[in-house]
Amino acid sequence: MSVFDHADFDNHQMVAFKSDPKSGLKAIIAVHNDILGPAMGGCRMFPYSTSDAALSDVLRLSRGMTYKSALASLPVGGGKSVIIGDPRRDKSRDLLLAMGDFIESLSGQYTTAEDSGTSVDDMAVIAERTQYAAGMIEHEKHGGDPSPITAYGVYQGICAAVEYKYGSDLKGMKIAMQGVGNVGYHMVEMLTKAGAKVFASDVSTKNIERVVHDFGVTELRLDELFSANVDVLAPCALGGAINSESIDSIKAKIVAGAANNQLKTPEMGDVMLERGILYAPDYVINSGGIIDVYYQSQDIRDTDKIEAHVLGIKKTLLEIFKRSETEAKSTSHIADALAEDILRDSLQKKKAA
Ligand code: NAD
Repeated sequence: MSVFDHADFDNHQMVAFKSDPKSGLKAIIAVHNDILGPAMGGCRMFPYSTSDAALSDVLRLSRGMTYKSALASLPVGGGKSVIIGDPRRDKSRDLLLAMGDFIESLSGQYTTAEDSGTSVDDMAVIAERTQYAAGMIEHEKHGGDPSPITAYGVYQGICAAVEYKYGSDLKGMKIAMQGVGNVGYHMVEMLTKAGAKVFASDVSTKNIERVVHDFGVTELRLDELFSANVDVLAPCALGGAINSESIDSIKAKIVAGAANNQLKTPEMGDVMLERGILYAPDYVINSGGIIDVYYQSQDIRDTDKIEAHVLGIKKTLLEIFKRSETEAKSTSHIADALAEDILRDSLQKKKAA
């Protein structure tokens, strides 16, 4: 496997590999960029079929974190880690402690938090071995889990998109969600409270039944989701939801959801622009989680302060939507350009200092 020539390498500053046969840990930590500060990003545990698939995922995700933190006005860089393994079968206390040692060995170049396949409790174990773990302190309204605040940011982002596209609030809007897990559940609560009609599909019967029971969500079959006659499509499961197979069937005029890396290829952003679909760039709308984790890393538990910062997502999205319309460029292109401007400015200031 080649790292420097890898299609997703994108000038990563550091990629570290760890194998610990005693605990079974096989992990990769990627630091994409630390211009704005030391890297921060979640630790994903997933049964990758090959080590190249794990490398690809960690490289793409850590690059995304650089852009996400830049547009969320956070003084942190982009990083991510992955553990190769099935979280339900392979996770053990020893494996998490070994991950803590791995993170600590990088002396603060990377701070971790929970992600798919890891939890608040797992972070507490990792933190037994490293000071560079966040995402487990209790704050005023929520526990250490960033999902409710991520959901709040995505909810605000959907409000911004609906306001921009339809000039209205969420009352009576039809919203189809792909995935109603940790973030999706809290989103459903906020969306239904605001008067939206929510439809959802999920591969987990337990998770879909929960939102049908708690909020009266209408279940859609997995194959009905993209072509559903709705106003907003919200991808809240895994990456790559918007791809060459799904894009033609999308009827919604807004795509706005929590999932990372929603576009299978960057061209999907252009196709949505051509088709008049307003796309809320994933790393902008879902930045509530990293904002929350950043405050946790600073030991700040003031929920009002954190929510006020998260509200900035709405303003950033509205700016992106306007520029996309004026410049006739996709929203994903505009978001990347804005983030790159921030990184360039910061680098210039550092060089001048
Ligand atoms: P989760 O694992 O709790 O929820 C994902 C849900 O999607 C699960 O219910 C799962 O069964 C379902 N799912 C998986 N494949 C599906 C498919 N093909 N069709 C329909 N449903 C499917 O994860 P989460 O924490 O809710 O995160 C959701 C997304 O948001 C992820 O992409 C994650 O990276 C991103 N995200 C999460 C946070 C956070 O704070 N948790 C922050 C930023 C971004």
